[in-house]
Amino acid sequence: MLEDKNPQKTSLSELGEFGLINHITQHFKVENPSTIKAVGDDAAVLDASEKQTLVTTDLLIEGVHFDLSYMPLKHLGYKAVMVNLSDVYAMNGSAEQITVSIAVSNRFPLEAIEELYAGIQLACNTYKIDLIGGDTTSSTKGMLISITAIGKANKEDVIYRNGAKETDLIVVSGDLGAAYLGLQVLEREKQVFKVDPNNQPDLDNYTYLIERQLKPEARKDVPGILKELKVKPTAMIDISDGLSSELFHICTQSKVGCKIYEDKLPLDPQVISTCEEFELDSTMVALSGGEDYELLFTVPIDDFEKIKGNPNFSVIGHITAENQGLNLVTRANQEIELKAQGWNALKGD
Ligand SMILES: [Mg+2]
Repeated sequence: MLEDKNPQKTSLSELGEFGLINHITQHFKVENPSTIKAVGDDAAVLDASEKQTLVTTDLLIEGVHFDLSYMPLKHLGYKAVMVNLSDVYAMNGSAEQITVSIAVSNRFPLEAIEELYAGIQLACNTYKIDLIGGDTTSSTKGMLISITAIGKANKEDVIYRNGAKETDLIVVSGDLGAAYLGLQVLEREKQVFKVDPNNQPDLDNYTYLIERQLKPEARKDVPGILKELKVKPTAMIDISDGLSSELFHICTQSKVGCKIYEDKLPLDPQVISTCEEFELDSTMVALSGGEDYELLFTVPIDDFEKIKGNPNFSVIGHITAENQGLNLVTRANQEIELKAQGWNALKGD
């Protein structure tokens, strides 16, 4: 990793805080008309127009949320932005601005911060997001990144977690469990590397899993696809902690129960083969894996014809009365109660 052991690297103290801010923000350009003033004054200025403003924030701490021994800094920057954009899309809004605040210890030279911001900039360019501010400061140990994303939506378009109704269908975009398995593969390679640094890992069988872990993409496309299909979800959430945990949020806030079907869970073939190799239950991984950044939503049952067969979506179950609880129907047609565990629950197994 890019630690400050190399004398050719540039120490952050040489630049000073304002020099650093200028240096890392100079190539960012403003994309959205709602950004009146980005970096460079005491505060950014946004034009909220007649829409509603969506605000979401996330704090990532080295050693807790990311491990730089297998997470390249550029990927970390990209992913830190995705995590926040995903929350804006989960409200059925469009994301337009971010602020980025970082704290780094003196083991990070300027080149490391440049790598991190290269990832942030790639995310901004790809998703048409303006960087409008933030803060940089020093930490006594490790790296912290806090990103706030700002978006907007028409009042009538915003989708909350609390609107799911009995008989609504439960739909998920993309597939589940791959990011968690990618992490398992990277953790295993880290252990192998510790024992034998000359070992060249063969990761060909895990490319999709590793990409899902290191370079997730937020589902910016989903609000647009739904609009085209003339489907308005009754509730929506993004999958950051795992399907079970997100279903709990929707059901608790909507005061309903749910029934999902094991054989309907969308799994990539690499998820199935790697679960076999790691002796993990693929259903458990799909339910509790987390970090998929797919969107989970409910739609009125009358919209079934519009949703079914769309390659972006899988109908995985339906909403029930609150007193039915949250249940999974297994392939053997048995009903078992869902537990609200995030991806941490898998770690101890
Ligand atoms: Mg979320």
